[in-house]
Amino acid sequence: MIKKLNHIGIAVKNLEQSIPIFQKIFGNESVHREIVSDQKVEIASFKVGDVIIELTSPTSEDSPISGFLEKRGEGIHHLAFESDDVQSDLNHLSQNSVKLINETPQLGAHNMLIAFLHPKSTNGVLIEICQHKD
Ligand code: ZN
Repeated sequence: MIKKLNHIGIAVKNLEQSIPIFQKIFGNESVHREIVSDQKVEIASFKVGDVIIELTSPTSEDSPISGFLEKRGEGIHHLAFESDDVQSDLNHLSQNSVKLINETPQLGAHNMLIAFLHPKSTNGVLIEICQHKD
């Protein structure tokens, strides 16, 4: 079951250029950097209260983020909601005619299991459901 907003994903072309912009906004908060090979992205994230702002840039041309940047440009990419059981949420949503991008959870940043719902089913908003792996 979904519990709360975990992070907001923002698609950026160049992390080195974007990190200082968001550092200005959030103060000199420490930045968490991580390459997520499964998703073909590199992230830089800032913790803001309970929510993480996650700058995401592609590490290859066939990264899903590359396609997004080409089509929509930089900006908000997805909202990620934290769940206590991603697989059970996916099963439930699928039974209720919500289209899924991932039928089973994948490995994401911050050692989390993640799965995306199809934006065609969610008014154009890309929604991720995530869960701490341990
Ligand atoms: Zn995410």
